[in-house]
Amino acid sequence: MTDAALRPAMATEQQKRVGILLPLPLSGAYDYKLPRGVEPRRGLVVSAPLGSRESLGVVWGNASGEVGDNRLREASPLEGEPQLPFGLCDFIDWVAQYTMTPPGLVLAMALRSRQAMSPETPRTAYIKAGTLPARMTPARARVLEAASDGLARSVGELAELSGASPAVVKGLIETGALVGVKLPEFAPFTAPDPEFARPVLNTEQGLAAHILTGDVAAHRFAVSLLDGVTGSGKTETYFEAVAQALRQGKQTLILLPEIALSVQFLDRFAERFGTRPAEWHSDLTQKERRRTWRAVMKGEARVVVGARSALFLPFPALGLIVVDEEHEQAYKQEDGAIYHARDMAVVRGRIESAPVVLVSATPSLESYVNAQRGRYAHLRLTSRHGAAVLPDVRMIDMREGREPGTFLSPVLREAIAVTLGAGEQAMLFLNRRGYAPLTLCEACGHKMTCPHCAAWLVEHRYRKRLRCHLCGYETVTPPQCPQCGETGTLAACGPGVERVAEEFAGIFPQARVAIASSDTMHGPQETQAAIRAMTKREIDVLIGTQIVAKGHHFPQLTLVGVVDADLGGSDGDPRARERTFQLLHQVSGRAGRAQKPGLVLMQTRNPDDLVMKALASGERDAFYEQERKMRERASAPPFGRLAAIILSGHDGEAVRAAGRALTKAAPAAHGVKVWGPTPAFYALLRGQTRERLLVQAERMVDVQAYLRKWLAAVSIAKSVRLTVDIDPVSFF
Ligand code: ADP
Ligand code: ZN
Repeated sequence: MTDAALRPAMATEQQKRVGILLPLPLSGAYDYKLPRGVEPRRGLVVSAPLGSRESLGVVWGNASGEVGDNRLREASPLEGEPQLPFGLCDFIDWVAQYTMTPPGLVLAMALRSRQAMSPETPRTAYIKAGTLPARMTPARARVLEAASDGLARSVGELAELSGASPAVVKGLIETGALVGVKLPEFAPFTAPDPEFARPVLNTEQGLAAHILTGDVAAHRFAVSLLDGVTGSGKTETYFEAVAQALRQGKQTLILLPEIALSVQFLDRFAERFGTRPAEWHSDLTQKERRRTWRAVMKGEARVVVGARSALFLPFPALGLIVVDEEHEQAYKQEDGAIYHARDMAVVRGRIESAPVVLVSATPSLESYVNAQRGRYAHLRLTSRHGAAVLPDVRMIDMREGREPGTFLSPVLREAIAVTLGAGEQAMLFLNRRGYAPLTLCEACGHKMTCPHCAAWLVEHRYRKRLRCHLCGYETVTPPQCPQCGETGTLAACGPGVERVAEEFAGIFPQARVAIASSDTMHGPQETQAAIRAMTKREIDVLIGTQIVAKGHHFPQLTLVGVVDADLGGSDGDPRARERTFQLLHQVSGRAGRAQKPGLVLMQTRNPDDLVMKALASGERDAFYEQERKMRERASAPPFGRLAAIILSGHDGEAVRAAGRALTKAAPAAHGVKVWGPTPAFYALLRGQTRERLLVQAERMVDVQAYLRKWLAAVSIAKSVRLTVDIDPVSFF
């Protein structure tokens, strides 16, 4: 045989060799070969042998050539050849690079549902045949009557509709009076109708909507900050952009910070578009996950409302991304791949040539500065829609004349009495779960702390438990002090929502009240029930943590009492003031959203603080300007860049040694400062010692390159875990 005859065969042999990315923490793609005739398309989902098992994988790019031909194993496409869109693959690479996460771990977020990859199995449904059963009974007649409209239904549906038992339906199938037909495994998603219930926008809303729909129509990457006071119709406005994407056959992703928002939100969406959108969040069942993932991949799910992980869905035709409440810290994923969903949404928008809308009444300073610099379009809605006016915000100075052991000041109590007397609703806000944040022995001063964390145990009187809010450790409140053994000396210090509710009930025994807390002690069901009861006016007063601060619309709520406005963030957190402002502003925004004007009373020991003054005067931008200057002076984000290194492990000495070794190895570089190591705020968490280092860099510095160089030069003990957090928002 001649050389020439061999060559073509060799060429195809080599073509089949590809790099396949596995959803595992590996440094890159692995080489495999594909079966003859399979085209190596980037994004093709395959089953790849790995050791003695099979792993999912995705054709990623060219092979490295590091594996010899004889050791090359074959990966095969899955049935139905599911395929990740190119845009998603590029996005995964980008996120991995930026966050310094192994690309396989980022891919794992896109392949969450293994079951989503297997092809659909049709289900059987039944319709009436031409024949009648030999023996007719009233129950059988009812079933046949139910089936007479010709729609195919399952046994269960027919039984439910007719009131007959499933056995009766099955009997009819046996006699041949009902025949089976094959239907797709899942009922398809109904497409939202952009013209279903179009609102008449006011002038400001109309201008903003015009710009957003223009970007959607042009398939143009552009970022807009939709910055409007609470109740100004931001949602109504960006829904117009969603409508435009629908008209153009494009998909939309709406990110929300919390699942808690979604019940009201989904209904609201349905009122505007005639049907609920697809959902994506951690509470979905495996089956729903599979249904939604496939519907997104096929382009059939036109609008997805989801938590941050929805960013990794396989949209083939993404035409718009909305990040609602863009300032929310919940957008930062803090474990696994550490990323900020708002920032990554902008990246995905750029990759897909799709506009991105960031929505907030209290934007992050980052977005605010970007809008000021003209990088983002700044779309402002300055007044509430319709008759509603912004609430009157007043401070109650708590430095004077407080009755010991009480948390509701006379002024606040009086205002509650007036509100209830007028038949209106009130809300009391305290961002602290449980009964009391600290339990202290009055005899010896012993503080009840978690055995696994450097944290106080929080009393939950409702369940008679002390609980660690960091690791979930729980214990029964002991009758005696574990240190000095005295009985009856353990005292609750400070208030949590349960304690406020207790005081409230003592003063207003007749009022109907509920607690809503983002707490496993009360549970999400109970919280949802409390919020529903408030909406339906079945209760007069809602007492809650930050879960009540966000998004909800209670038309009859006219009074908001902030029990402790001074609860801020931790030391060394450059965003602590911004966050306090955002949260309190958000809470205030719950008051007076309909016809009746609202009043907000904030109990504080710092009424002269600029945060409080800005809240009381309503001069938000004065606060932002001051905050901007302070951050600029400190080279804090967005004027400088931060990256944190967190070291953790059970062997405390090894962790501290790793911290010292890292510091010693830090390369000198222009515009880069390294701080630490210092014990983390939670120096002990779930039994692990934690140390932190902070890299502060000028804006133009390539922080990732700096870190790669640095970390490559140090080897740390196997027992120590090193985590890199680019652009940290949490400093614990
Ligand atoms: P935001 O998202 O800014 O808090 P919303 O979009 O929730 O504001 O609007 C607040 C309330 O005003 C909602 O009940 C909404 O339906 C109503 N609303 C806003 N704009 C309009 C409009 N143009 N026409 C009718 N109702 C509107
Ligand atoms: Zn703990």
